[in-house]
Amino acid sequence: MTTAATTAALQLAPRLRGDVIVPGHPGYDAARAIDNRSHQSRPAAVVRCADSADVAATVRFAAAEGLPLAIRAGGHSAAGFSSVQAGVVADLRGINHVRVDAERRLVAIGGGALAGQVDRATHPFGLATTTATVSTVGVAGFALGGGISYLTRKHGLAVDNLAGADVVLADGSLARAGEGGDEDLLWALRGGGGNVGVVTELRMRLHPVSVVTGGPMLFPLERAERLVRLYRDWMPQQADDIYAFLALLTIPPDEAFPEELRLRPVCALIWCNTAPEDQSNAALATFRRRRRRRGQIRPPHRAAIRGPARCRRSPVRAVRPIQPHTAMPEPPVPPRRHRRPSRQQRHGMAVARRGVRPDVRGHRPRARLRRRPAGLVRRLPGRPAALRDARLLRQLPDG
Ligand SMILES: Cc1cc2nc3c(=O)[nH]c(=O)nc-3n(C[C@H](O)[C@H](O)[C@H](O)COP(=O)(O)OP(=O)(O)OC[C@H]3O[C@@H](n4cnc5c(N)ncnc54)[C@H](O)[C@@H]3O)c2cc1C
Repeated sequence: MTTAATTAALQLAPRLRGDVIVPGHPGYDAARAIDNRSHQSRPAAVVRCADSADVAATVRFAAAEGLPLAIRAGGHSAAGFSSVQAGVVADLRGINHVRVDAERRLVAIGGGALAGQVDRATHPFGLATTTATVSTVGVAGFALGGGISYLTRKHGLAVDNLAGADVVLADGSLARAGEGGDEDLLWALRGGGGNVGVVTELRMRLHPVSVVTGGPMLFPLERAERLVRLYRDWMPQQADDIYAFLALLTIPPDEAFPEELRLRPVCALIWCNTAPEDQSNAALATFRRRRRRRGQIRPPHRAAIRGPARCRRSPVRAVRPIQPHTAMPEPPVPPRRHRRPSRQQRHGMAVARRGVRPDVRGHRPRARLRRRPAGLVRRLPGRPAALRDARLLRQLPDG
């Protein structure tokens, strides 16, 4: 820890509307904490920015002192990018405004706003944008890296819906990207993450979303092979407003979930259909019918929906939960260790269509989308036999 940096950071404090938290402050440990607790960096200072001027002052300060700068919004970076050892953290959580322009179908989102905050604000207008599937993820961190949403199959990635942004550049100047501002800067933001500047506001396109049918369907892990095959063949043929991702996961030992499910490794289909009810029900029936035929079905277990439905945000006026089921006849066997979840999703034509529009990651060739599942398979710990067959997944059609 460089004491000089900490002392210098304290001199920054009077020039800010926000706070500077340094080691020794009672709130320091809470201020430096990020989602992935395996990263325990101790920054020289955490600057809680209240506005763009605070961000600009922080960027200039870090440059002048030669200190590394980390940007923190939702704090969900698995790699721990939102903290930095002996450097400065620009904490944007205080810049979390959300303003809806229903007429222009645009939403202005503060650089530190979370997915759940955006959904709550757009929801009364019957509108939604492509935000993360977990409500506590920062929209800026999510959107600047690409952004896969429940609505992606129909409305593309988050970068496809990024219309403009206000950015503090590396020299501390403020720039406007897109919407008559710097179009090259917007191009770079669409996939460039935090490498281009600190985004203090994003403007994203909104889409009408009324009722969704959503929630998890859980199957025993032994059924994973059949489910992956069915999902692979069935999902690409569906309309863009039918969406589910398939996940292999261990139910967390959390009170939100029924006790008999906790720590059970399962294969899950997580649904979010924006299609009319009859079409949505027909889609769900494909997997329900299968369950019945194979004698795996137990009567619907209403409790099973409690946790997942509450954990996941709903970008809509009303959520019609599906009838969940557990299909878990045998007593639970706690796994030796908590398996890392993995997921598989078919994004549909909205992503491919937007591949012809430029962004910093270039086009999205069909081949690249196709290769992704094979990588996923290689990383799977304790994967079931079906998933060890990478060839099976390499044949996945684009979706
Ligand atoms: C539980 C969980 C659920 C997730 N769900 C999804 C999902 O559904 N879809 C998906 O695509 N991804 C998802 N992700 C991945 C997530 O989108 C990325 O990790 C993202 O970077 C997190 O953003 P954050 O603001 O929460 O994180 P932070 O750790 O605060 O930020 C990560 C990095 O993003 C950049 N950044 C953040 N804010 C700004 C800003 N205002 N200006 C410039 N750069 C900024 C910085 O480089 C920062 O270091 C999920 C991750 C987790 C842990």
